[in-house]
Amino acid sequence: MTSVTVDQLRAYLDDSLSDADAARVEQQLRASEPLRARLKEILAQRERGDHSVGSVWRTERLTCPTREQLGSYLLEVLEPGHQEYVEFHLKTAECPVCLANLHDLQESQKGPPASSRRKKYFETSAGLLRKR
Ligand SMILES: [Zn+2]
Repeated sequence: MTSVTVDQLRAYLDDSLSDADAARVEQQLRASEPLRARLKEILAQRERGDHSVGSVWRTERLTCPTREQLGSYLLEVLEPGHQEYVEFHLKTAECPVCLANLHDLQESQKGPPASSRRKKYFETSAGLLRKR
């Protein structure tokens, strides 16, 4: 029961929906594959029209978050609007660059804390020094 119209999707992309409506659209996007496909279509249309709002949207909104921002996103410490944008960029736009970056960050967050990494490094260097 998809009740999100194309106009609402456009408004969502333009950031002109109320918070409640935007949240509802996002919820529907998460739940509905056809709706995500429609959103991608709208995006593709905008990509083609260079002198439209699309080009503004592309420069303003399709900009990749920095690695620091992706790290903050993982820790969920970004401002709410920004957190949602990064999520959209990753999950709906499926930016391959950022997804790879995110995966990398997730892997490194799983590793031992920096202090024990450092300790290990010093132990290794100490061992090397002794051998020489
Ligand atoms: Zn990206």
